Amino acid sequence: MEYQNSISFAKSLDQQDPLASFKHQFHLLEKEGKHVVYLCGNSLGLQPKNAKAAIEQELNDWAEFGVDGHFDGKNPWKYYHHFLTENAAKVVGAKPHEVVIMNNLTANLHLMMVSFYKPTATRYKIMMEATAFPSDQYAMETQARFHGLNPDEAIIELKPRAGEYTLRTEDILAQIEAHKDSLAIVMMGGVNYYTGQAFDMKSISTAAHKVGAIAGFDLAHAAGNLHLQLHDWDVDFAVWCTYKYLNSGPGGTSGVFVHERFANRPDIVRFAGWWGHDEKERFLMKKGFKPMEGAAGWQLSNAQIFPMAIHKASLELFAEAGMENLRAKSVLLTGYLEYILKAFSEHLTIITPSDPNQRGCQLSIIVKENGKALFDYLCSQNIIPDWREPDVIRMSAVPMYNSFEDIYHIGQALNNYFKK
Ligand SMILES: *Cc1c(COP(=O)(O)O)cnc(C)c1O
Repeated sequence: MEYQNSISFAKSLDQQDPLASFKHQFHLLEKEGKHVVYLCGNSLGLQPKNAKAAIEQELNDWAEFGVDGHFDGKNPWKYYHHFLTENAAKVVGAKPHEVVIMNNLTANLHLMMVSFYKPTATRYKIMMEATAFPSDQYAMETQARFHGLNPDEAIIELKPRAGEYTLRTEDILAQIEAHKDSLAIVMMGGVNYYTGQAFDMKSISTAAHKVGAIAGFDLAHAAGNLHLQLHDWDVDFAVWCTYKYLNSGPGGTSGVFVHERFANRPDIVRFAGWWGHDEKERFLMKKGFKPMEGAAGWQLSNAQIFPMAIHKASLELFAEAGMENLRAKSVLLTGYLEYILKAFSEHLTIITPSDPNQRGCQLSIIVKENGKALFDYLCSQNIIPDWREPDVIRMSAVPMYNSFEDIYHIGQALNNYFKK
């Protein structure tokens, strides 16, 4: 695509965009009556307008039925997770029984590690990105300690080459090979939260399996962003949150994927709770844990109806738009953002890979001088990116609700800023 920096060009792309109307299904932000260009979908997605009715439905059923809402409500709470599985599976490229929505992200990451990180005297290492999200770092550190290991010895951190910002796939694969006898698990992000780099999950999974290791991914920044194919890529397990690109509200619920080769194996050790027990006998309160089939067998507690109601509503929009279509728009939209930003390359560096296959919708930039001042200026101009210490501005052009015209306005603001 040959991009142009003009309002008419941006408007023509919006006119040709088959998903353009989806933004009307969201509460777009306004300040003093003016449209705000929201670029923080990587942090907290905007509110879908159908969320409120979804919550009200459950509040009404609770008011009307009390405890019988578990069976008599419109969406009986006893079976609530089932109502989300199919659409969640579509978003991550899984079979429905490989997916369950439950808990929060970091809790789910620990649950998966309990089942899939089985260190032995010789095979005990965890491989991760050196700049992983802090929660993932703390989770891996304490998982190592939980098994009596020293995290400094157990964790292999992958760092970019000197002078580079992101990891090269060939280097990741070489590191897996180099640790082939000691590697127990590769546990990486799908998209790095800081650099916006998307990893080649298929190649990483294949390489991990080749050396006898497990491949797990934290998809916090990938779910609802990339066109994932977890089943076909042969990923072993994955976890994600739903409040970033999946627009399901602050602290919202989380998703788990367990590949079907494990999902139906009751012998896989897990930390269990009653909601993961065979649904037909759950209320018999019998002794002896018998897991439900599929990823649902990792559930602990009865479903958190309110966050899940929002997620259910949000997933309906994803099903309607189609992840493939969203991704196609996303490539164009972020390409346009990159084109606009590149006009200012004497002032800023884009650290996210320029190859669309190695990124989602986010671009991370480092401003040569006083990045915080530019960030503050953009905010004052009704453009809301986000700031990550020490010096990165992240901008996510979200295909669900950002427009090409939004991107054009970023360019105008940068013009004003750097010319002043
Ligand atoms: C956002 C994010 C988290 C946050 O974890 P919660 O348990 O949802 O608070 C964890 N890991 C990564 C990679 C993230 O991007």
